[in-house]
Parts: sequence; C-alpha cells; structure tokens
Amino acid sequence: AKQAGRNNFQFFVPEMNQRAMVRLQMESALRRAIERGEMILHYQPQMELSNGHISGCEALVRWQDPVKGMIPPMDFIPLAEESGLILPLGDWVMREACLQQARWAAEGIHLSMAINISALQFQQADFVEKVARIISETGANPREIELEITESALLASTDELVAQLERVRALGVTLALDDFGTGYSCLAYLKRLPIERLKIDRSFVKDLPGDAEDAAIASATLSMARDLGMDVVAEGVENQAQCDYLIERRCRSIQGYFISKPLSADALTAWLRARGL
Ligand code: C2E
Ligand code: CA
Ligand code: CA
Ligand code: CA
Repeated sequence: AKQAGRNNFQFFVPEMNQRAMVRLQMESALRRAIERGEMILHYQPQMELSNGHISGCEALVRWQDPVKGMIPPMDFIPLAEESGLILPLGDWVMREACLQQARWAAEGIHLSMAINISALQFQQADFVEKVARIISETGANPREIELEITESALLASTDELVAQLERVRALGVTLALDDFGTGYSCLAYLKRLPIERLKIDRSFVKDLPGDAEDAAIASATLSMARDLGMDVVAEGVENQAQCDYLIERRCRSIQGYFISKPLSADALTAWLRARGL
C-alpha cells in the first residue's frame, strides 16, 4: 500500500507541476503582451429594431500574438481574472474604448460604446474614480459610455452595491447587465438596482424561435424588462427568424452576426460609411 501511495504521489506531482508551469508561462506571456501593446479591440455594432439605426457597439478585446495570431478572449480572460491581470488589462480596455468613442465622435460618428467590466474591476475601491478619470482624460462622452457588468459583480452586499452603482450612474454612464439569464438572477433585486439595460444571453437566442423553453425565457425577460422600464439587447442574433421573433416582442436592440461580426475600428468605420451613416 505504501508503494502504491508513493507511485500515486510520483504520478500526481509532475502533472500538477506541469500544469502550474503552463499557467505561469501563460500568465507571464499575458503580462508581456499587455506591456508590448499586443491587445487590440474589435467593435460589434448594435442595431435598434424599430428603425434599423446603428446606435452603438460593444468593445471586445483580442490578443494579437505575433506568432500565434489572434487569440480570442475566452482563451485568456479567465486566466487574467484568476491572476488579477484583468485589472491592468481592464484599465487598458476602458481607456482604448473611451478614446475610440471620442475619435468617432470627432468624425461625426455617434455610437454608444459598451465596455465589459469584470467583477474584480467593479469591486475595486477606486473603480468610480478610475472611470471618471479615464473619461475625462480621453474626452469621451459619458452619455455614450455603457458599462456591461455580469451578475457575479452584483453578489456583494446590497446597500454598498447600490451606492456603487449610483455613483457610476452619477457620471452619466449607462449600466447594462450582461449575459442575463445565465447566472443567479434574483429578479426582485433588479428593481432596486439602477441598471438600464439587460443583455439577453446568446444561449437563449440561439434556438429561437423553435425552442419552446428558450422562447419562454426570451419572452418573459422582454416583458419583465418592459415592466421594470429597462431596455433589452438580444445577443448573438444570427438570422432573420430570430430577428422577427424579437421584433414581434418589441425587443429594443440586437447584436450579432446577422448585423455584423466584431470589426476593427477602421473596418467598422468603413462598414458604417458603406451603409451611409
Ligand atoms: P460577451 O460579452 O457575451 O460578448 C459577446 C460574444 O459573443 C463575443 O465573443 C462576440 O464575438 C460573440 N458573438 C457576437 N455575435 C455573435 C453571433 O451572432 N454568434 C456567435 N456565435 N457569437 C457571437 P468574444 O469577442 O469571443 O468574447 C467572448 C467573451 O469574452 C465576451 O462575451 C466577454 O465575456 C469576454 N470579453 C471580451 N472582451 C472583454 C473585455 O474587454 N473585458 C472583459 N472583462 N471581458 C471581455
Ligand atoms: Ca458583453
Ligand atoms: Ca454577453
Ligand atoms: Ca432548450
């Protein structure tokens, strides 16, 4: 038994070491990438269903590795969150997205800019001051800045949380609840929070209108949001049938490949110009 135990031990340790090493290597690669300016933002347009107007976009980060090429956020955001690197990365994203909002405004392109905020960022004691500073330094219009938070950022104690959200709102910035329906949604809670928009997660949009459960969730979210005076953006809209379903239920806006994939700033500018905007 003793020997088996030792064998187990010997088998187990190198594997753990290897995994820990891969993580450490990735972490330092990510740190270097942020420093070297290998991060870029792409922007995915959002369309209002009532008039076809492109009213805003969401900033989505990519890692442009000189060797590996474009690395999607799902391959490094979780690591960035676990290691705390999401804080410097999140600062960079916010600054760059605000700069782009201001650049576009200077060219006469008025788009609201939605920025993803991790729970860890939102929980920083100086978060609101940081947002205020970045907005003022970049010349962005706070009325055109929207911060997307997830339910995981809303699990803190309620009074403090409401105060924090109110301070963000006082800057003129809009708050949106991302990936709605995927987390622990305490619905009663929503009415207390100064959140103006809900983003219905793509997982509930994907199989619309055919899937009965997804249709029930999408439809219930839309009517609840309407009753609470909130706007809804449906994510991941890929086809006309999904779009028709959402129009019928008076969803405010959509975002998805049906309109456009996320594009570089230049490509989105060209795309908007081609549409005569
Ligand atoms: P998300 O915030 O839910 O962003 C939407 C994701 O859905 C994006 O993936 C987008 O490219 C993708 N998408 C949009 N329309 C469609 C569609 O019609 N079909 C399909 N199949 N996918 C669609 P992306 O860019 O890979 O980002 C993945 C996630 O990474 C984001 O999900 C967000 O959670 C996170 N992320 C991206 N950028 C940032 C960032 O700057 N900060 C933080 N904290 N997280 C980020
Ligand atoms: Ca988002
Ligand atoms: Ca989302
Ligand atoms: Ca289903």
